[in-house]
Amino acid sequence: MKKVIIIGGGIVGLCSAYYLAKEGAKVAVIDKSDMLDGCSYGNAGMIVPSHIIPMAQPGVIHQGIKWMFNAKSPFYIKPAISVDLLAWLIQFYKNSNQNHVDKSMVPLRNLSFFSKELYQEFAILSKDFGYDEKGLLRLYNTEKVGEEEIKIGKIAKELGIEVDFLNQREVKELEKDINVDALGAVHYKSDAHLSSNHFMAFLKAELNKMGVKMISNCPIFDFRVSGGKIDEVLTKFGIFKADEFVIAAGSWSVEIAQKLGVKLHILPGKGYSFNVENLLSKPTIPSILCEGKVAVTPLGNEVRFGGTLEITNNKDTKINIKRLQGIVEKVNEFYPDIKVDLPYKEKVWHGFRPCTPTGLPIIEQSKKFQNLTIATGHAMMGLSLAPASGKLVSELILGKKTSVDITEFRSC
Ligand SMILES: Cc1cc2nc3c(=O)[nH]c(=O)nc-3n(C[C@H](O)[C@H](O)[C@H](O)COP(=O)(O)OP(=O)(O)OC[C@H]3O[C@@H](n4cnc5c(N)ncnc54)[C@H](O)[C@@H]3O)c2cc1C
Repeated sequence: MKKVIIIGGGIVGLCSAYYLAKEGAKVAVIDKSDMLDGCSYGNAGMIVPSHIIPMAQPGVIHQGIKWMFNAKSPFYIKPAISVDLLAWLIQFYKNSNQNHVDKSMVPLRNLSFFSKELYQEFAILSKDFGYDEKGLLRLYNTEKVGEEEIKIGKIAKELGIEVDFLNQREVKELEKDINVDALGAVHYKSDAHLSSNHFMAFLKAELNKMGVKMISNCPIFDFRVSGGKIDEVLTKFGIFKADEFVIAAGSWSVEIAQKLGVKLHILPGKGYSFNVENLLSKPTIPSILCEGKVAVTPLGNEVRFGGTLEITNNKDTKINIKRLQGIVEKVNEFYPDIKVDLPYKEKVWHGFRPCTPTGLPIIEQSKKFQNLTIATGHAMMGLSLAPASGKLVSELILGKKTSVDITEFRSC
């Protein structure tokens, strides 16, 4: 029986633990936090086969520069004199082209569909995390953005993703209980959603039942290696030995990999969310308000609003009120009935998306260490792609053929 240590107990680490334990491996997850509030908990909970275009795409740099000068925009790069930032930006620039998009779409679609199938299996085990297949409305209120959304929708449809193109009247017919002020929408009917906090609680309960050790508040300090293999990891609570090691530490994976002399290009993309309870009228279908990149997710009695992507560092926990205002204004523009107030700072959750300069996740076996697997860099799709990523990690470690082709999911 293989002994595996997973560093990082976010959704990717926990899904990896789940599929490894299911195959009989003896698994321990080590996390430096209390495992209650990281990036995998407060996200928008969207499962998104619709996201076939990676973040690195043509036009993104031009748009990004424009957004940099608008304090309420959904995107920002925190200026810093940093070799890591410069290296990331160079890689991002190199990947922001049509060739990269063309190469990425099918692998991303396959990974997403595989992950959704695995979510459907989880949903049979429990109703507690609110898994629902209502699709996703990408709402727009300008002609220009609408044209772009429809263009992407058509590509997605050609790739076998279920898509409807809705005009203003059709959007209103679909969302009867609330006034939606949008010119139109692309309805991705293949998408689903759930409550991320509840899903994490469900996963932890399953792992407990399976005998997986979860060691929280335990930062890792270093490794001992010999002959191209990792022997031990040195942590706050002592030294742990294993046959195999997994780095699944989200945006912190860089610093952990660095201790092993492995270079990863990942930067944290900070985002915010907040919940509003008991709204008199609320949407029934999750949506993205395209002009502001705001995510709106109905979760039972609550609605979660989320957005912004600030490329920054992991210590930057400041809540930027202007950007929060940007989210609130977009919500009130698209759903005039809701009238959301600016939330108190204490009510706002933040998380760091692990962003690669390709916009694709990294799921690979290390070239440097024969017993190291890396699963990170899922940026805005970590929840969506976690079950597939976890299953792939287990397949890589157990020497099985991978369920989907992972050639494109490698570090650069
Ligand atoms: C506002 C917002 C909305 C989002 N909405 C969606 C969505 O709708 N759908 C979607 O698919 N994704 C969404 N995401 C992205 C998603 O949340 C992330 O991609 C995902 O949570 C990343 O999971 P992870 O397991 O890779 O990393 P994390 O959840 O960050 O977990 C990494 C773990 O590693 C631990 N760690 C770090 N350093 C160490 C160390 N030295 N030793 C031990 N442990 C360590 C950390 O404590 C942490 O628990 C959203 C993100 C944000 C911010």
